[in-house]
Amino acid sequence: MRRPDYHTHLENYALDRDSLLRMAEAAVAAGVDEIAVTEHAHNFLQCRDTYPPDNDWVHGRDRPDRRNWDLEAYLRLLEAARAEGLRVLVAVEWDYCPGYEARLERWIRSYPWDLVLGGVHWLPGRTGGWWGFDIPEQRTEWEHRDVDRVYGDYFRLLCEAASTGLFDVLAHPDVVKVFGHLPRQDPAEWYEQAAEAMARAGICAEINTAGWRKPVGELYPAPAFLQALYRQGVPIVISSDAHWAEHVGFGFPEAERAAYSAGYRTRCVFQARRRLEIPLSRPDEG
Ligand SMILES: [Zn+2]
Ligand SMILES: [Zn+2]
Repeated sequence: MRRPDYHTHLENYALDRDSLLRMAEAAVAAGVDEIAVTEHAHNFLQCRDTYPPDNDWVHGRDRPDRRNWDLEAYLRLLEAARAEGLRVLVAVEWDYCPGYEARLERWIRSYPWDLVLGGVHWLPGRTGGWWGFDIPEQRTEWEHRDVDRVYGDYFRLLCEAASTGLFDVLAHPDVVKVFGHLPRQDPAEWYEQAAEAMARAGICAEINTAGWRKPVGELYPAPAFLQALYRQGVPIVISSDAHWAEHVGFGFPEAERAAYSAGYRTRCVFQARRRLEIPLSRPDEG
């Protein structure tokens, strides 16, 4: 039974073969047969033009550890790994920033991606700029926000991101809950709208096990959200969002069980941005 992991990062290591091998070897050890390396687009110097200029964190003004990697070197590294026989997809995780769709589209069209992940990580700042609501150093901003409004803004952007049609998969669809801030109102309507937007756009939702490693301690998406996605016929991928080798394939049997209980019997694989549905293993088959 195939078990791909379509969300992994190199940013805590380096942009080199050793780091990639480390992830690939961890994948084999975890029973994962294929990985997509989905580095954050903002780690590539060339791709910063797809972000608003007043996003201080992205442009490295308030983080000394800013990566300034070369996108061409990244693509060469992944192509070379593939030529060596490693099961690696050439992929990227792009942030959806409203108003930057045309630039984003140029970058997406210009390179031979296997898979483009889209995610919402930024909301407008209260006093200008942008707030990375899932970034630990920016967590205190939550204390100044109305949680329901944050959720409303997040899900509106998520629906917009889906309808751009630029992405193959929407990553961690309810990452807004990362630190455990839960809305007072029932989130069912947001879930339904997001699931509808993804269904209309014909894109995949990501079941992302990183939520189990975060303060919220819950899979992305929440059970009720996953059920809404299933009802709307939105296909899925299952991913770890590993930023460290030991997290590749993290929690996959449990995530597969969650997908199965929601009704899913298939998961997706990608190549050159073409999607194929393959059987999801039955929970008792592991
Ligand atoms: Zn992300
Ligand atoms: Zn990620």
